Amino acid sequence: MKTYAIAAIPGDGIGSEVIDAGIEVLDVLQRHQGGFSISVERFDWGSDYYRKTGRMMPEDGRDQIKHVDAIYFGSAGDPDIADHITLWGLRLNICQPFDQYANVRPARLLAGIESPLKGVTAADLDWLIVRENSEGEYSGSGGRVHQNLPEEVGMDVAVFTRAGVERIQRFALDLARTRPRKLLTLVTKSNAQRHGMVMWDEIFERVKGDYPDVTTDKMLVDAMTTRMVLDPKSIDTVVATNLHADVLSDLAAALTGSLGIAPTANLNPERRFPSMFEPIHGSAFDIMGQGIANPIGAFWSAVMMLEHLGEPAAAQTLMAAIERVTELGDVLTRDLGGRATTRDVTKAVCDAIRGTNSNGL
Ligand code: NAD
Ligand code: MN
Repeated sequence: MKTYAIAAIPGDGIGSEVIDAGIEVLDVLQRHQGGFSISVERFDWGSDYYRKTGRMMPEDGRDQIKHVDAIYFGSAGDPDIADHITLWGLRLNICQPFDQYANVRPARLLAGIESPLKGVTAADLDWLIVRENSEGEYSGSGGRVHQNLPEEVGMDVAVFTRAGVERIQRFALDLARTRPRKLLTLVTKSNAQRHGMVMWDEIFERVKGDYPDVTTDKMLVDAMTTRMVLDPKSIDTVVATNLHADVLSDLAAALTGSLGIAPTANLNPERRFPSMFEPIHGSAFDIMGQGIANPIGAFWSAVMMLEHLGEPAAAQTLMAAIERVTELGDVLTRDLGGRATTRDVTKAVCDAIRGTNSNGL
């Protein structure tokens, strides 16, 4: 029997609450599904670890997890520590050295969930946003000069490499090809940013020639926000830079009901390093410790993880269980208009996996 080694890094705030829930669901799923098993090792890295050691993760942390089959991540972010320290110390400290350059973010309306957009149904909103995840605006390049003096300068340099742009565009074209509509929208801002963004456009013009079966179009990022709201069904697969896709995918999550349900995969497509799966939301300071975080984003991320591991049947079982719960609509957390706790939703999804849902489903 195949056993998959998973490194769980629950991290901070509700990140740890929803990853605990996800581990529980995965455990029920492997026993129900059979044919494979999952061995989870937990790493207590994050802000509490930082308070004790001055680091978000150990210096040899990546060595400890480089051989696992996948990483299951919660969130990095603490009310008492600056966000750039927690983010760079943990999440980006894993994503970037492990070359997880393709960030994939599905956005669709789950059964029973209503969009805040009037009249928009599940058939109208089914997107896949591909985010460049290794360079661009989040390259970490830049600096501060004359710090704390009146003439201080702060610079963040967006770094776009031809190799980095071409590989993410090809990845998105390959993914678009697997979708029924085979439609890919390139999002840039090449009117105002006249160097790197123009290079994105030029590379796309050339690369897309290798994919005659994929229909493509192009949008400036500001116009894309209005298209997402006003004409969602015109969109299928999207490729954009690290910053632009970061922003667009939070909007996408809200349009599909809640930030709390949205999943993401940080992929190293060549599998030289492990890939990492996480809900897109953060630590949610306003609700952490209350046990009311929506765990569905973490569950859906586990679905993506199972697909990546090569367990499509188990992935399907879990997704169906999630949607059985959302469709019934009586066990939803507050962000989806309900009153259920993280625990209630976790139990409902576990019951749905076992097929022992009290509603007879
Ligand atoms: P956030 O995602 O933590 O919260 C935004 C809003 O959405 C809050 O009102 C929150 O209550 C709600 N929300 C988010 N997830 C929810 C869930 N599962 N169920 C119910 N409601 C949910 O974003 P933020 O407030 O901008 O960031 C808080 C902290 O998290 C910051 O430190 C930030 O840097 C960090 N963060 C980390 C990651 C990550 O590690 N991947 C991602 C985003 C933010
Ligand atoms: Mn984000």
